[in-house]
Amino acid sequence: MLKRILVTGGAGFLGSHLCDRLVARGHDVICVDNFFTSQKSNIAHLLDHRNFELVRHDVTEPLVLEVDQIFNLACPAAPGHYQYNPIKTTKTSVLGAINLLGLAKRVKARILHASTSEVYGDPTIHPQPESYRGNVNPIGPRACYDEGKRAAETLMFDYHRQNGVDIKVIRIFNTYGPRMHPFDGRVVSNFIRQALAGETITLYGDGSQTRSFCFVDDLIDGMLAMMDSRDGFTGPVNLGNPHEFTIRQLAELVVAGTNSNSTIEQAKALPVDDPLQRQPDISLAKAELDWEPGIELASGLEKTIRYFDSIDLSHFRAPTPNY
Ligand code: NAD
Ligand code: UDP
Repeated sequence: MLKRILVTGGAGFLGSHLCDRLVARGHDVICVDNFFTSQKSNIAHLLDHRNFELVRHDVTEPLVLEVDQIFNLACPAAPGHYQYNPIKTTKTSVLGAINLLGLAKRVKARILHASTSEVYGDPTIHPQPESYRGNVNPIGPRACYDEGKRAAETLMFDYHRQNGVDIKVIRIFNTYGPRMHPFDGRVVSNFIRQALAGETITLYGDGSQTRSFCFVDDLIDGMLAMMDSRDGFTGPVNLGNPHEFTIRQLAELVVAGTNSNSTIEQAKALPVDDPLQRQPDISLAKAELDWEPGIELASGLEKTIRYFDSIDLSHFRAPTPNY
């Protein structure tokens, strides 16, 4: 059945791909964004579409709409973006969740919240199942994001228990692909930008820390499957690619994939509280959503490199100086 669907953060990297998929399915899509870390170019191709509407709005302020479903993605996601104005980051997570949950409660909409693997902090259990309660430093530089997202999860479950709101919580692990902001400072965008320009690839620490990278198309499949999952299945559910790589391996793959002569060098020490390892346990997503990612890193990187090669960097405003 066709629905009226609100996507907050809909002009961002993941949000714009989600809007594409929802519009293609024929739904009426309302994209809400304050453009802190994105620009209209991500959704320019949708602006004239009869099923698509764009609202410039900050989710820390309440909003009044009539919708059937809400995807709450609004939040800066890259460390350099969320640490730029950490108080605003916590407000976006917490006040944003309260405002969107209030809306969901009023109009009886199903709400999916984009949480993160960062709720596990620097994990002491590997890979991370949803039952792991995490190892987050509550007063460190990443806390505005990690604790903000943890508080948003708390709010989701309290609105569910107290008010019967129909909630779905996903914990997204590192996802990459076309439309990542070229100056977001995240590892995939930094390395590809550097390799294409023949600049030094900047390893933080010795590059032995690990991440598991999921291509955006796989992630959106999982997100949609979660929104459509059976009544009563709230999550949280991990969504990510369980194939784990060291950051140095990623650098080598990017150099090979771009035919670059960039060298790979340690540029600075590992940032404070930077998790040493991260890999999702996706058994729950497989069992409940019949979902698992299918796109391997080398082939996802190829598509992402093609995208970065096609854009004009002078058209992108760096949201913060942290790249
Ligand atoms: P992104 O920065 O590209 O997108 C976030 C969007 O939210 C941007 O368009 C930004 O302008 C908007 N936004 C930020 N603050 C806002 C506010 N106060 N009001 C309205 N809009 C606001 O990042 P992304 O990678 O697309 O992440 C989307 C969501 O997924 C985030 O909630 C993020 O925490 C979560 N997530 C992403 C990843 C990943 O690897 N990409 C991993 C874990 C979780
Ligand atoms: N990183 C790096 N070089 C860079 C950017 C990031 O070595 O130019 C490292 C970073 O320290 C972390 C990993 O890559 O260990 C992933 O960083 P990212 O900011 O992409 O996301 P995170 O998973 O830390 O939120």
